[in-house]
Amino acid sequence: MRIPLIAGNWKMNLGIAEGVVLSQNICNNFDKSWLDRVDVLVCPPAIGLRPCLTVFEFERLKVQVGAQNVHWQPQGAYTGELSCDMLASAGCTAVIVGHSERRNLFGETNEQVNLKLRAVLAQGMTPIACVGESLAVREGHDPVEYVCAQVDAALAGIDEAEAARCVIAYEPVWAIGTGRTATPEQAQQMCAAIRALVADRFGSDVAEQVRVLYGGSVNVGNIDALIVQPDIDGALVGGASLEASSFLALIKAC
Ligand code: 13P
Repeated sequence: MRIPLIAGNWKMNLGIAEGVVLSQNICNNFDKSWLDRVDVLVCPPAIGLRPCLTVFEFERLKVQVGAQNVHWQPQGAYTGELSCDMLASAGCTAVIVGHSERRNLFGETNEQVNLKLRAVLAQGMTPIACVGESLAVREGHDPVEYVCAQVDAALAGIDEAEAARCVIAYEPVWAIGTGRTATPEQAQQMCAAIRALVADRFGSDVAEQVRVLYGGSVNVGNIDALIVQPDIDGALVGGASLEASSFLALIKAC
């Protein structure tokens, strides 16, 4: 049985004070029994990781914090970057790797996503590997083939036990921040194809354990239809994770 995961990606929003306020608002209205059914993660900007986690720890609420990016090297002359060890020391348990904004705006390649994913696993944290096709690929090519190639590249060189610890987030680029969600059928089809690929590469036991999330304009109005899909194990949420009320409603929907 896979436990669903609701993960909030705050992107480059909310400074330390605002992030602490949002974390406190999440705590204030959180029904702890939800955590019997769903895992919850928030991914603030790096400077907010430790302060936000302190709020959750103080409130004894098992909400985890994760980073939005990482460098694969352990240390060195990489100005502006953070290592896995640094993120773990701030209390991070998960790291988003290969978000489409990192791929498209910062030129991150499949090879770099794989290096990051392996470094995150080696640190004992959970990688959330993002994949997804652009509108041009959806309309002109085979989106399943394109996305599966991204998954294959992200998971290259890892073993079955490591693969079972990975989370894969299918986020069609055309649905991110646009208000245009993939239909539940489109999302299910792609998430099923991702799981079938994992089964092919790592075996069906691993495929049964790997959590596959959907991301892209997830909100209170569409979560119910997405979460009931057999291969969708939760959501990676941008905009709707920036307000406690909408984020809590998504958690409750699971
Ligand atoms: P939105 O939910 O704002 O579309 O963002 C999705 C996303 O990119 C999460 O990583």
